[in-house]
Amino acid sequence: MYDVVIIGSGIAGLTSAIYSARAGHKTIVIGGPTLGGQIINTLHVENYPGYKDISGFDLINNIASQVKELGVEIVSEEAKEITSDKKVITENNTYSFKSLIIATGLENRSLGLENEKKFLGMGVSVCATCDGNFFRGRDVAIVGGGNTALEDALYLANICNKVYLIHRRNTFTAEKYYVDKVYANSKIELCLSEEVKSINGEDSLQSITLTSGRELNIDGLFVAIGKVPNSKLYENLVETDNGYIVSNEKCTTSVPYIFVAGDCRKKSVRQLVTAASDGAVAALSASKYLEREK
Ligand code: NAP
Repeated sequence: MYDVVIIGSGIAGLTSAIYSARAGHKTIVIGGPTLGGQIINTLHVENYPGYKDISGFDLINNIASQVKELGVEIVSEEAKEITSDKKVITENNTYSFKSLIIATGLENRSLGLENEKKFLGMGVSVCATCDGNFFRGRDVAIVGGGNTALEDALYLANICNKVYLIHRRNTFTAEKYYVDKVYANSKIELCLSEEVKSINGEDSLQSITLTSGRELNIDGLFVAIGKVPNSKLYENLVETDNGYIVSNEKCTTSVPYIFVAGDCRKKSVRQLVTAASDGAVAALSASKYLEREK
């Protein structure tokens, strides 16, 4: 029986673990198959206090080693179910808890097209910094109009032959800094007021067709259309709003023994520092709950 089970090994979950262990609670992190959450794909983190420039991978590994030194176990298992009798079930194990912190973050939004999932790793990607190098010197396309899509388009333009940037509007929501750079980059061709209608190929991506009917022969398609909470795990358990867990500044939820931290919490600012802040608050709230229940 754990005092605190934490689901999620991003910065929110790991910060919760630090605070929970330091408060003397028996704590475990169910971290999913990959340690670290969204930030591990970011090459340069320049807005986390104390570091002028650090990769997301290094930042997470630093925090994870701090967590382990405090005696907290981090298991690479995926939580499949949270039961109403206070258990988290993974494929091979069941973890009983007195209190639970949900820090499951967000997952990539998909276009919902046929072949999109089938061709993941076979031409379709959700991470330019992870997979861009496979398409060195080739023609690729990226979908989206936010900071991620434009930042990735610029990254890909450095290594690929040509980059089509496909966006369903004729203006971008990305910051002006990225928009100006994209417009000035001769390797990026804008396909505005366009959407991807189909992803074509037999066993791997060969081309895409746009809503205008134009076909683009490309080797790589990067989908960068935002993130959504992975709410299936908890939506029948706690109050949610569009998949985000409803909470207050104490990171409590509609269930007294469940707390929430990070991007899956309903809130206005989703940054590394606010995820870390949530992690601390959720763990301290869980700690108060455990004291009350003694
Ligand atoms: P985002 O800002 O939510 O943008 C999503 C983009 O995808 C929008 O252009 C949206 O178009 C489009 N889109 C959504 N659903 C679509 C669909 N079904 N089909 C086609 N297009 C679709 O997501 P993000 O760019 O990943 O950014 C997420 C957060 O991280 C933001 O707060 C961002 O500022 C931050 N971020 C910051 C940095 C940085 O500071 N360097 C870098 C990356 C990300 P519509 O406008 O038409 O909805």
